[in-house]
Amino acid sequence: MPNILNMDPAGCRRCGTCCRKGGPALHGVDLALVRSGAIPLSCLYTIRPGEAVTDNVCGGVSVADGDIIKIKSKTDAAACVFLDAPGNSCRIYADRPLECREMACWDTDSIRRVYAWDRLDRGRIIEEFSSLAELVAIHEAECNMGFIARLIDLRKNGDTHAAADIAGRISYDADLRKQAVSAQPGVTGILDFLFGRPLCLIIPLQFGVPVRRSPIA
Ligand code: SF4
Repeated sequence: MPNILNMDPAGCRRCGTCCRKGGPALHGVDLALVRSGAIPLSCLYTIRPGEAVTDNVCGGVSVADGDIIKIKSKTDAAACVFLDAPGNSCRIYADRPLECREMACWDTDSIRRVYAWDRLDRGRIIEEFSSLAELVAIHEAECNMGFIARLIDLRKNGDTHAAADIAGRISYDADLRKQAVSAQPGVTGILDFLFGRPLCLIIPLQFGVPVRRSPIA
C-alpha cells in the first residue's frame, strides 16, 4: 500500500504547473471527500472503460480498462476546476485528493506509486442498487466504448450499417441524458460523472470521426 501520509514538501513553489495540466483522478481513500461533499459530484467526470486516457505522470496515451473518476477542468482551459489562478491556490487545499497530496514535480516517485492504485469507480460512489446505478448500467450496455471502437473500425472499412449504428448510439446517449434529467432534475449537473462525456464529443476526440446532427460522416 502506498504511503499516503506525505506532507507537502517545502520544495513546492506553488507555480501551479501541475494543476494547470488538469484535475487528478480519484482513489479509494478519496471516497470520504466525495461523500462529505468536499468534492461535489458536479465537479467530477468519468473516463469510461475503453476511452483513451493520457498518462500525465509517465506520459503516453492508453485505453482505460475501468472507470477513472477525475476532477473536471475549467470550461476554458485544461486547469483543474479548483485552481484559483491569480495566486495559484487550491480552493480545496485541506481536502485535496491523494494524487495532489503525493504530487511533487521535482520527485515523481511518490505519485508514480499511487497513480494506478485503487482507483475509484462510479459503483463505489453511487449506491449499488440505486436508480442511478441502474441508469449507469443501462447506458454502459448501449454505449460501451469497446463496442463503439469496433463499430468505428467497421465503419472505416465501409460498413454503412456500422455507421448507422454509431449514429443511433450517439442519439441514444443524448436522449438518455435528457430522460435522466427529466425524471430526476437533481442529476443535471452530474451527467458527465454518471455517463462520462457525451459520445458526440468523445468520438471525434478519440477516433477523429466527425459527428454531425444526423448520421456521422
Ligand atoms: S485539487 Fe487543488 S491541488 Fe489538486 S489539481 Fe486541483 S487545484 Fe491542484
